[in-house]
Amino acid sequence: PPYPILVSGSVVKGFGRGGKQLGIPTANLAEDAVERTLRDLPVGVYLGWAQISGQRAVWPMVMSLGWNPYFQNERRSGEVHVIHTFDEDFYGRTLNVAILAYIRPERNYESLEALVEDIRCDIEVAHRSLAREAYQKVKQCDLFKTDD
Ligand code: ADP
Ligand code: MG
Repeated sequence: PPYPILVSGSVVKGFGRGGKQLGIPTANLAEDAVERTLRDLPVGVYLGWAQISGQRAVWPMVMSLGWNPYFQNERRSGEVHVIHTFDEDFYGRTLNVAILAYIRPERNYESLEALVEDIRCDIEVAHRSLAREAYQKVKQCDLFKTDD
């Protein structure tokens, strides 16, 4: 697929399956945004940039694209872990996302520890990859422009 893939979607409530308790909250993108933009992408884990709409900052992110159990696994779910510590939740806000590369396919995990370890690794991969000049430049794209 042609990267960057740009998506804007509102942040909706997920199942609260413990992302936050594990220290890895994932902002679940509204189903319409995922269906419109990500329907042809393979499931798995991606890296890129994310911004809460209206705020200036653009943060690194890892995104998991999977099957949404709420829709009997007929539709995709997009969950973005922004690599930054926020003071507050941002449910209901619009998240702007630039997807830049595929990291890996989904895996089934035997333990929570194995899952967390893999995500830590994804975060490291994202940091290193996003340091590339070509990826840094994407932070300047129109999607992330603010009025001020
Ligand atoms: P849910 O099942 O509702 O998605 P999570 O445990 O995955 O619950 O927490 C996700 C929520 O946490 C997001 O919708 C957002 O409001 C908040 N949040 C706080 N910090 C982050 C972050 N760094 N990345 C993603 N979401 C975050
Ligand atoms: Mg979530």
